[in-house]
Amino acid sequence: MNIADMNWFKVESYLKFDDRVILPLGSTEQHAYLSLCTDFILSEKLAKDAGGRCDIPVYPGLPFGVAPYFSAFPGTVTLRPETYKEVVLDLLSSLHKSGFRRILILNGHGGNSHVQEHLGKWQTENAPNCQLIFHDWWASQKVMEAVHRISPNASHASWMENFPWTRLKDVEMPTYEKKAVDRHTIQHLSPEGVREYIGDGNYGGAYEAGPEAMLEIWRIATQEVCELLESGWT
Ligand SMILES: [Zn+2]
Repeated sequence: MNIADMNWFKVESYLKFDDRVILPLGSTEQHAYLSLCTDFILSEKLAKDAGGRCDIPVYPGLPFGVAPYFSAFPGTVTLRPETYKEVVLDLLSSLHKSGFRRILILNGHGGNSHVQEHLGKWQTENAPNCQLIFHDWWASQKVMEAVHRISPNASHASWMENFPWTRLKDVEMPTYEKKAVDRHTIQHLSPEGVREYIGDGNYGGAYEAGPEAMLEIWRIATQEVCELLESGWT
């Protein structure tokens, strides 16, 4: 269920028999030849696919995240980690105030994961009766196993993020496989240095995989979110 298709009466009725909700978190940042909104598109679509199957309301994804290291690539936007933390906690407080008590945060971008460190304190101080699941969907064991069955050389902006809903119609993909970049090196570079080092923006891997492989990864990811929604709460 899409929150955009609900009014407040419907939410009030829903809360009489269920208290689960999904909040997708994304980012708008360089993804080489793929859409700048790749992390936003993937987390929101996964939330909608799983929420639709399980009849659970899905909020619009937060399109902006924390990606200072890509700021030398045109089109990338970033929030400061402190700002981001405040935004996410304000959203959680609002969801809690509405009456949601089990909130699945579906994250699509590694730079946002630090917000997890603040959730325990928020819960203790503001919502001890609320349960949270923070799910980095692409990094789960099940999704990673599915990715590695296809190729272990898979990373940011490579084939593993190239779905029919993140590629751009008028853009041809390179046909070679890019050698994996060194993530440790990236951590010590300025944004300009990162751009120079990673070139087109792909962290390593081919640029495209077969459509069946990608749909299988999506099926596994969706199934996992549904399982978390059904039985991931403590
Ligand atoms: Zn991404």
